[in-house]
Amino acid sequence: MLRLVLRVPLRTPRVKTTSMATRGFDSSRAAAAVRELLIAIGEDPDRSELRSTPERVAASYAELCSGVGVDPSSVLGDPLPDTSGGEAVLVKDIELLSLCEHHLLPFKGVAHIAYLPSTQIVGFGALPRLVSVLASRPQVQERLGEQIMTTLDSALATRGVLVVIEAVHGCMRDRGSRQTSATAVTVAACGELREPLRRAELMALIGEKREGAAH
Ligand SMILES: [Zn+2]
Repeated sequence: MLRLVLRVPLRTPRVKTTSMATRGFDSSRAAAAVRELLIAIGEDPDRSELRSTPERVAASYAELCSGVGVDPSSVLGDPLPDTSGGEAVLVKDIELLSLCEHHLLPFKGVAHIAYLPSTQIVGFGALPRLVSVLASRPQVQERLGEQIMTTLDSALATRGVLVVIEAVHGCMRDRGSRQTSATAVTVAACGELREPLRRAELMALIGEKREGAAH
């Protein structure tokens, strides 16, 4: 039935951005803001241990926000003709790291992406790139799934897309309610994969645990 299920966790590659995202990140302004934050929390930003912290934090946020302003469809590459007769494609366990836009704290987990091709497909490597570029910006998990779905659907004119994201959020784990083991699961679906029966098989495959997986 299914053409391929990739079961190996895929590391999301860093998306190289030479576009407005890189040009748009103002490192010295970000560092100055971090220095202000240190003062605001009652610290002395000039004590020796903190002296390089503003630049280090700015560099971290430049990396976490490297997808800002990047057109996500630009990382998909050229579509390829589908020769399978429209069988489902599923790539699961794509690692993601993103930044919660409410607290600017990281959230991380995995995305599972399935789609039903109409006439075109993309290379498997395009899907981790798509996740990475859309995750590397201030986000909310629900919108991240929707944007992955919409970008893929628009680029390929699919018959349906299903995106399931499982993530742990720093803002839930490390502050507030301090839920150290809670995982947020969101689903975005369109086309034929909005139909529960149609997507049941894919959901079952997504739910299968890898052999030797710890959870
Ligand atoms: Zn948050």
